Amino acid sequence: MNHFSITGYPRIGKKRELKFAVESFLKKSTNENDLVKISDNIRLEQWKTLLQSGMNYIPVNDFTLYDMMLDTAVMLGAVQDEYRIDGLSELDTYFALARGYQKDSTDLHALPMKKWFNTNYHYIVTELNDKMKFKFNPSKILNELKLASSTGINAKPVIIGPYTFLKLSNIAEGKNIRDFFKQILNNYILLLYELQDLDISYLQVDEPALVMDMTDDDKAVFNALYNELLSQKGKVRILLQTYFGDVRDVYDSLIKMEFDAIGLDFIEGEKSIELIKKKGFPDDKFLFVGVVNGRNIWKNDYDGTLKKLRAVSNKIQKEKIIISTSCSLLHVPYTIDNETLMTPEIKEQFSFAEEKLSELKEISELFSSAAPENDPRYKINRKLFEAKKNIKGFVFPEIEKAVKELQEQDFRRKSGYPARKKIQKGVFGLPLFPTTTIGSFPQDGGLRSKRSSFNKGRITKDEYVSYLKERIKEIVKYQEEIGIDVLVHGEYERNDMVEYFGENLSGFVFTENGWVTSYGMRAVKPPIIFGDVKRQEKMTVDWITYAQSLSSKPMKGMLTGPVTIYNWSFPREDKPAKDAVYQIALAMRDETVDLEKAGIKIIQIDEAALREKLPLRKIDWHEKYLDWAVKAFRLTCSGVNDETQIHTHMCYSDFADIMEAIKNLDADVITIEAAKSDLSILKSLKKNNYDHGIGPGVYDIHSPRVPPVEEMAEHIEKMTGFIDPGLLWVNPDCG
Ligand code: GLN
Ligand code: ZN
Repeated sequence: MNHFSITGYPRIGKKRELKFAVESFLKKSTNENDLVKISDNIRLEQWKTLLQSGMNYIPVNDFTLYDMMLDTAVMLGAVQDEYRIDGLSELDTYFALARGYQKDSTDLHALPMKKWFNTNYHYIVTELNDKMKFKFNPSKILNELKLASSTGINAKPVIIGPYTFLKLSNIAEGKNIRDFFKQILNNYILLLYELQDLDISYLQVDEPALVMDMTDDDKAVFNALYNELLSQKGKVRILLQTYFGDVRDVYDSLIKMEFDAIGLDFIEGEKSIELIKKKGFPDDKFLFVGVVNGRNIWKNDYDGTLKKLRAVSNKIQKEKIIISTSCSLLHVPYTIDNETLMTPEIKEQFSFAEEKLSELKEISELFSSAAPENDPRYKINRKLFEAKKNIKGFVFPEIEKAVKELQEQDFRRKSGYPARKKIQKGVFGLPLFPTTTIGSFPQDGGLRSKRSSFNKGRITKDEYVSYLKERIKEIVKYQEEIGIDVLVHGEYERNDMVEYFGENLSGFVFTENGWVTSYGMRAVKPPIIFGDVKRQEKMTVDWITYAQSLSSKPMKGMLTGPVTIYNWSFPREDKPAKDAVYQIALAMRDETVDLEKAGIKIIQIDEAALREKLPLRKIDWHEKYLDWAVKAFRLTCSGVNDETQIHTHMCYSDFADIMEAIKNLDADVITIEAAKSDLSILKSLKKNNYDHGIGPGVYDIHSPRVPPVEEMAEHIEKMTGFIDPGLLWVNPDCG
């Protein structure tokens, strides 16, 4: 049987124990010891599970209290000086970096967050500057290894590699990556020294940044870093782990370098097989073959997987192959075991983190077997894929047909933006710098407990609805009192901006415990797109029209866009993304039209996740993604008349490079993040002649820090230097 392993495991705890522990620590209801105890227990329990699965190399230090990139920064001593505040413990400083810090006269921002490659995980971005001390601090990884050594597991400590760390950090103005090369590299070397005599199988060095386009300079940086690092490895065996794609740009040098093992992604790594076929793989290394999808929840297709493994084993001895996941299992929930909402026939289609452990084992056994086709496990697996097609309620031929018959005009508003702008100006008569919010207001304990009572049947639907109406009334009144121009209803009826729509559309299935980390200790529970998507009835019209009836100011209808619904769900693997997204767009288009019919004049279609699945390689951007993603948005909003103002919202602002696509959305107004980022977004909007309405957020809602009014005013003033004031909206940066 071949050895098997995983790249990493979820960490938030099966019941989100870690989230609750961190939260109560931050609220000061518990102390550091309590937090340590709980996090130790989570790890010990998980290692036990991994050990029992028969796994050969068990990841350690893939755990974190907030974020692994922040952990790396702390290990490297890449910590902004101003966060080292007297009287704060190491842990307090850590959370100050992650969440900001406000006390007495000290007022520090949270470090910015960015999407982790094209996932829905967000990492903390460090800014490397001259004032940093780069004092090496290995306490976390060493503590983890110590804890692990008490369990008898074969530990494979995991760290983010220097190339990825440098590429994903912000670099202070006037500096470049090479200015920090030496300090960073030195600390990695110190880490190697620390690990020399410890009992570990491999040091897994994660370098996902290698799957992105690399310039010659990038390659030179990579080579320089690793030539040096590998020359110091001593007894430490190094596994270079890549994921989220293939390493076509550096494969040639990788296989020549002194790595002991290389981990490649055979799910998203389109060219991984080809690289091995064409260029071979050296005898002196092990290959961690990522054939089990770390990012999706469908059962592995054993037949396809065995084919891949056979292709690989044509070029490399079988004993050198280690079966693994395509990336960390961080991106999937813990287990399908405790799910009760789905029928057994649906449930058996899925495989979450724990189930993937069994898949790895089965695959490694089948791969070693002389005739896997005769193995009952193989046969059962094959049948699953046939069985899916016959599960009722998920196949709608009329929807497939509607998608096939779409015409160019279905993707276009009646008039262009200039004409619409004029018409809308007359309709709304909004002041200069109109104010609005992004949609949701905080959902407190009272609201949550009402929802849960309703879900459990303890209160009637009428009671629940009238409670929500009360809340809507309050928030509408509040917005009127403080003088907001375009109101929202607060989204109290929604548990989540995607789940809510998923629940109201056919084609989705849901989990009760399928939590996946989104940032820090925040987790989301993505729906699963199981089959064809179809709207059954109106989903938002009653709520929005009720809210509108309470005010003479315009009330925004709030929808989630098709690309975001898709990107924040687990997608099907039996249909191209484009078709699946168009199905959702058609459903949401019906809702848009119904909102307009009901008298709603402004409709916001959130595409918070548009950028998220942008392919990592530029060559794939348009054809493989943006072309149809933009069209899906337009399909959703072009059923309405020119008077109706379409807004969209995105939770980020780094779209300098996709500005064309953003313009092509042709939304009348777009609200974005800008509170945390510098002025670069404004510069690039100006450069690209962005000429639709825009609201660059002036308030970072992800941080508990309250920005002073003057700061926001200053922000707005600055914006007017870049954007025609007649186009500017004033709003927070997210819901
Ligand atoms: N309208 C949504 C809200 O306000 C948007 C959330 C988001 O962009 N993540 O919650
Ligand atoms: Zn947002």
